[in-house]
Amino acid sequence: MKDIYIYLTHKDGVLDDSALELISAAKKLDGSAKISAVVVGASDEVLNEAVKSYKEVIKIDGDAFKYPNAEIIRKALVDIIPKDSIFLMTYNTFAMDMAPGFSIKMDASYAADVVDFEGVEGDTIKVVRQEFGGAVYSRSKLDISKGAVISVRGGVFPADESKSESGSVVDKSNDVKDTAANRNFIEIVAAEAGDVDITQSEILVSIGRGIEEEDNIEEAKELAETMGGDLACSRPIVDAKWLDKSRQVGTSGQTVKPKVYLALGISGSFQHLGGIKGNPFIVAVNKNPKAPIFQVADVGIVADILEFIPVLNEKIGDAK
Ligand code: FAD
Repeated sequence: MKDIYIYLTHKDGVLDDSALELISAAKKLDGSAKISAVVVGASDEVLNEAVKSYKEVIKIDGDAFKYPNAEIIRKALVDIIPKDSIFLMTYNTFAMDMAPGFSIKMDASYAADVVDFEGVEGDTIKVVRQEFGGAVYSRSKLDISKGAVISVRGGVFPADESKSESGSVVDKSNDVKDTAANRNFIEIVAAEAGDVDITQSEILVSIGRGIEEEDNIEEAKELAETMGGDLACSRPIVDAKWLDKSRQVGTSGQTVKPKVYLALGISGSFQHLGGIKGNPFIVAVNKNPKAPIFQVADVGIVADILEFIPVLNEKIGDAK
């Protein structure tokens, strides 16, 4: 098998959870492969965290890497990553931007948003992806004879907590030849803070399009209060302007790490599930027994939420 390089994502000096998930993904590909991490524009804290889990952490740093500009990072990776290797990264907007062009420059195979691997046969990997919003799984054979660039969906592989490696940082910043770019970063505009910080909530009652009408939200809010939690939602609820953007869970919303996640009338799109981290206990209520959310739920209840919410609210109130 080939050497595996894992691109580590970080933000505000914190390593993303995907750093450990991608180790599991790499081990599923080949338990005996050499696995190295690549981290660009990171603080010492991030590097120190990374060497707890990776034997070799390749550092690329410099003024050009203060902001993750896909154009510049792509060029740098071409200089650093050996051809014919396997390159894994988490699937996010940066990966969408950077990875396809990188695979072309490496003359390597490419697969995006992979949710599983089904083994290696010679120079072939079978990758599993979800299509049609999670309704079907597709399997593709990837020829890896000239290497592969693969983005992996967050949250689908378990975090590898073994932290068995006591690694070292290898600084390859000086090996980067060209950091010129046609697209230059100007500024980050932070979203306005909302009335609640759902990223800190231990219990989330989250509503989706199944809530049907704005007037029905009040009852879900009461349930969240009864349960001692906060109200969250999927994106259509924010698009309809029924709740503030600060309550949206997902890839273009908040990343939450509750202990309990009650999903009410949410189908379970990958964009929504991508915002749920930390392996919470997920209870899903949906009137469609085939809703994709049931694939990730610890408890699945097939019911009409408009009937279910008042009953649960009453029962919890009684129990209290
Ligand atoms: P639907 O998919 O319409 O599902 C509604 C569910 O409710 C269905 O499963 C239905 O069976 C069920 N239902 C209906 N009525 C009832 C009832 N009375 N009782 C019980 N169940 C009922 N989405 C996010 O959530 N967060 C994001 O951050 C996000 N980012 C995105 C970024 C991009 C670039 C794109 C393209 C999309 C993004 N989306 C995001 C949208 C995402 O693709 C889905 O469209 C969205 O998550 C669907 O929300 P939903 O599950 O509430 O609605």
